[in-house]
Amino acid sequence: MIVQLRDGLSTAEESSVLSQLSDMGCKVTPVVTQLKKYLVVDPKKEIDIRSVGQLKGVRDVHRVNAPYKLVSRKWRVAPSAVSLGDGVQFAEGELTIAAGPCSIEDERQIDSVIAHLKEIGVRIMRGGVYKPRTSPYSFRGVGLEGLKMWHEKAREAGIKVVTEVLATDQIESMHDYVDMFQVGARNAQNFTLLAELGKVDKPVLLKRGMSTTLDEFLHAAEYIFSSGNEKLVLCERGIRTFERAYRNTLDINAVPALKERTHLPVVVDPSHGIGVRRWVRSVALAAVIAGCDGLILEVAPIPEKAFSDGQQTLNFKESRELIEKAQQLIAIRREDY
Ligand code: PEP
Ligand code: MN
Repeated sequence: MIVQLRDGLSTAEESSVLSQLSDMGCKVTPVVTQLKKYLVVDPKKEIDIRSVGQLKGVRDVHRVNAPYKLVSRKWRVAPSAVSLGDGVQFAEGELTIAAGPCSIEDERQIDSVIAHLKEIGVRIMRGGVYKPRTSPYSFRGVGLEGLKMWHEKAREAGIKVVTEVLATDQIESMHDYVDMFQVGARNAQNFTLLAELGKVDKPVLLKRGMSTTLDEFLHAAEYIFSSGNEKLVLCERGIRTFERAYRNTLDINAVPALKERTHLPVVVDPSHGIGVRRWVRSVALAAVIAGCDGLILEVAPIPEKAFSDGQQTLNFKESRELIEKAQQLIAIRREDY
């Protein structure tokens, strides 16, 4: 159950609601986000929801049967939009694109990708400065100094920056140089990191872990939301199955299934989802038709020379063609739904 209190309650009035709920046998977790204050209420026994609604100070009550509560669409039926500022947002019915290299490498690469994004009208640049690599001997990113340079150039160009944070102790130093924090698949159930990102007033792009079910994925999102951050976007990026013909299995099914379960925007990363450059386009377009609210694409000037994930990275021509096609499909999708 989610309880919303009336605005302007005194501390005493609020404590009184809490103690009455606890007398009714409920476990109450107060949640304060950037936008509002909620009580997540878990009745330990059957109670009449109307009796909660009648408590003095309660504005409304919603029964939410799903185990995750605040991210559930049973509670918030209308889709949530997530703004990165300056008119850049993820929202249902739109197709917001973030594109850029797997790893940020140097100034030339940054300039060249920014020029490409400007040309095709993409307003969010992705790129890793802290890279989670399977081998410790692989390139692990340019770090904070690289992020500062990239952010400055992107800001001048009117482009937003999304980049992965690997650990809680990086959040503070990265904070002023990102427009959106990314949580990678390998950290999808790092509950300490998720809870810390809940305390930050910056949008978070949460990727699905390679072996997390949708239920677990939504619980991970609930960690961030219930820790105080409502600005959340979910990203399907492929799961690990028995199939070895491609890097991961992009779970297109997750798109309609997530859209039904949550009010949060749902985007798809076909680059990691399939891991093979020449197939990225097909699955990206399939994801658009399936109803995703955005795409995250790996794009670089010369993918063959990329420091990481070149095998799944599109060149500028492929990126332009894919994005144009995706935009045509959005028009078709709008007619169809
Ligand atoms: C990435 O986006 O570069 C990345 C490492 O993705 P994932 O966490 O989905 O593997
Ligand atoms: Mn990558």
